[in-house]
Amino acid sequence: MEYRVKTDVCVIGAGHAGCEAALACSRLGLNTVIFTMNTDSIAMMPCNPHIGGSSKGHLVREIDALGGEMGKNIDKTFIQSKMLNVSKGPAVHSLRAQADKAEYSKEMRMVLENQEHLTIRQAEVTDILAEKTAENDDLSEAAYRITGVRIATGTVYECRAAIICTGTYLNARCLVGESITETGPGGMQRSTFLREAMDRLGIPIRRFKAGTPARMDGRTLDYSKMKIQEGDKEVIPFSYSTDPATVQIEQMPCYLTYTNQETHDIIRANLDRSPIYAGIIEGTGPRYCPSIEDKVVKFGEKNRHHVFVEPEGRYTNQVYIDGMSSSMPDDVQQRMYRTVPGLENCVIVKNAYAIEYDCIDANQLRLTLETRRVSGLYCAGQFNGSSGYEEAAAQGLIAGINASMQIMGKEPLVLKRSEAYIGVLIDDLVTKNNLEPYRMMTSRAEYRLLLRQDNADLRLRHYGYRVGLITQEQYDHVCEKQRLIDEEIARLKSIRIGAAQKNQTYLKEHGSAPLGTACSLAELLCRPELGYESIAGLDPDRPALPGEVTRQVEINIRYEGYIARQRRQVEQFEKMENRRIPESIDYDDVSSLRLEARQKLKKFRPASIGQASRLSGVTPADVAVLLVYLEKFRTRFKPNQTEK
Ligand SMILES: Cc1cc2nc3c(=O)[nH]c(=O)nc-3n(C[C@H](O)[C@H](O)[C@H](O)COP(=O)(O)OP(=O)(O)OC[C@H]3O[C@@H](n4cnc5c(N)ncnc54)[C@H](O)[C@@H]3O)c2cc1C
Repeated sequence: MEYRVKTDVCVIGAGHAGCEAALACSRLGLNTVIFTMNTDSIAMMPCNPHIGGSSKGHLVREIDALGGEMGKNIDKTFIQSKMLNVSKGPAVHSLRAQADKAEYSKEMRMVLENQEHLTIRQAEVTDILAEKTAENDDLSEAAYRITGVRIATGTVYECRAAIICTGTYLNARCLVGESITETGPGGMQRSTFLREAMDRLGIPIRRFKAGTPARMDGRTLDYSKMKIQEGDKEVIPFSYSTDPATVQIEQMPCYLTYTNQETHDIIRANLDRSPIYAGIIEGTGPRYCPSIEDKVVKFGEKNRHHVFVEPEGRYTNQVYIDGMSSSMPDDVQQRMYRTVPGLENCVIVKNAYAIEYDCIDANQLRLTLETRRVSGLYCAGQFNGSSGYEEAAAQGLIAGINASMQIMGKEPLVLKRSEAYIGVLIDDLVTKNNLEPYRMMTSRAEYRLLLRQDNADLRLRHYGYRVGLITQEQYDHVCEKQRLIDEEIARLKSIRIGAAQKNQTYLKEHGSAPLGTACSLAELLCRPELGYESIAGLDPDRPALPGEVTRQVEINIRYEGYIARQRRQVEQFEKMENRRIPESIDYDDVSSLRLEARQKLKKFRPASIGQASRLSGVTPADVAVLLVYLEKFRTRFKPNQTEK
């Protein structure tokens, strides 16, 4: 007798994507069930023991600004924290925190276990249940509508939306040289059956790969041969909700060492035994997280590569050898690692390995992360072809929000490339032809001076408030912050100081050139050697403002010209972005479109002219044809009959 359970949302997977998705849905009041192969793997970090870093720190801040959990969770469980790229401009400043992996997972599980409307279920989801809604295959409308999921025990969970976040588990296999095990990461049980459901629903699947380095017994390493890497003296939290006083903790160090010619010779001599170079691995790996084999082959001219030794936690001796992920056989790993200064006597606790797994091509998703083929079915995380905890969490949050908005009949949340790194991430996944795991980088964001990690709350809190994940109090706080910033900028622009002797003396004492003529305090603030704090002596009547406000004032005044220019570019960009393309458009009817463009537009069904212009194979001439067609037939399409 089949047992059936009624719920609102089913989240398949409790990794970084699944946790954010499930918390978003349940915090919005929807009954949610989150499934995992093993509750001990909730928010597991199967690879690097850190959260954040270049561009990934931006994602974590944006997740937090929208009401997600990752930022709060790492603030409670980090063991070292560092603001990266501080010698460069604020656009690339990025927070990175070393996590205590076990504590990170435990803390997130506690949050899930104590979340109202949320049920955790250890079970493999083996099938997606959906009813047919349309015969067509042109994706102009969904062919199915989700009705539920089935688990391995046969029990059916009826739901109104489901979110697939299976990460690196689906049909996973792990490779250490010739040794191949059919498991998920870290020896966890893999999942298999969902593949059939994807095939049945006509959702194409592909194989991607990831790799991770060995874990070693830290007691067997000689740190005197490495360069210590300390955290920041004053720690800045990831979350806007975290009291900075609570993160000034005793930190653990990391260490830097290097590979050398001997390491590279061992690898070159055994390339034929590497599953990557022996062609055993089918999946495509990430260009920007290369294995040590790839580095030695692709950057042959380099005589050494960075190796960071990172603790995995406070209550373990295990350390992570960042920069040497590999799938070489065990005997080769034993020899190659021991050539690295400080690792001469290392004991490997866990071998480096490669994992390949099933994932989808995110081109078949809408910008809401809903699948085109099955309405109410969403996908997020590594399953969408991305790579990284932060990328996964960002997608999970957006998928959770949009599944909830759909059930509640509310406006979905689609962030533009000009508003957020999350907008860049999802637009790239859905619009670009990503042939390898997609990793976020600052260079992917056109408007990165506006999308800084320090202003994520000012950019996104209002969206979190609109969807219901940010409280009135949090929203009021950020509105007040913006008001104080604007007011202080105006005040500094309005106050002029002259070349009086006392001002000249003050400037001299602060290593700054004397004034030729009078100028505003704002102009003075543009001098690189001066800062908001250092001009305090010339500004006796200044109001007492919190650091989070004065930091924004300083950045906005210093980079005013660049910011204004980027804002003008955004205006141009958003004109195209706001030019919506009706969902039901028949591209066969747009006569003068080139064949390649027609095929691409029919496959991707872009939501806007802006998105259409980013499709490879769609030229500016094709966009012009489309614009003329839309103008000519504007009346043919019902008002706002556009894709959300
Ligand atoms: C070996 C390895 C190396 C990696 N290397 C890198 C790297 O170098 N750089 C980088 O940025 N990222 C790397 N990653 C990726 C990183 O770990 C992932 O990006 C991140 O964990 C993805 O999060 P996720 O939520 O999408 O999936 P995961 O964290 O993989 O979580 C998936 C969840 O789904 C559950 N699940 C799966 N199938 C089912 C089912 N049918 N029913 C129920 N539950 C199911 C699992 O139990 C798990 O809870 C690596 C990962 C691995 C495993």
